[in-house]
Amino acid sequence: AELSDLIGRHVRDIPDFPEPGVLFKDITPLLDSPDLFRSVVLAMAGRFAAAGVDRVVGLEARGFLLAAPVALELGAGLVPVRKEGKLPAKTLSESYDLEYGTATVEMHADAIAPGDRVLVIDDVLATGGTARAAMELVRKAGGTVIGLSVLMELTFLRGREKLSDVELHALSAV
Ligand code: IMP
Repeated sequence: AELSDLIGRHVRDIPDFPEPGVLFKDITPLLDSPDLFRSVVLAMAGRFAAAGVDRVVGLEARGFLLAAPVALELGAGLVPVRKEGKLPAKTLSESYDLEYGTATVEMHADAIAPGDRVLVIDDVLATGGTARAAMELVRKAGGTVIGLSVLMELTFLRGREKLSDVELHALSAV
């Protein structure tokens, strides 16, 4: 079967999580399927291997689970981008608009070296705000975002439109 179909069959829809009206894509069945999990990691890494990746940025929290094995596969460093207040050393921060209010993500100020070629990874691309903010953090640090890789793109939320200046690799889409 196609990888995108297998992914679709191993991501569960959870209605009304984390709040009423939201249909949450739960990737835990995929994480618990080692052959598929490995295929996903190799597909994410393989798509950008030839581009030369110095560091892989993983977005809290499920992005960490994918970014870590991809970084190892690429022989690249792993850099966490976290919600504000979680990282212990000096940080760069970037805020973005949510439907109600704003959110802030942070990255260690010394995590990316000027000129680094960076791959950003998350589980689900929804409105694109989180990925956009992570890319801005990398750029503030002097890095170049060579790609953004996600397990699943929620196309009806049009996040891709916010990310037209980056190579976006979605392994599946709904
Ligand atoms: P965005 O900023 O609207 O694109 O939201 C993306 C962030 O929210 C990512 O870090 C995702 O992990 C998370 N997210 C949004 N919707 C879902 C979902 O249905 N399943 C899992 N994560 C989601």
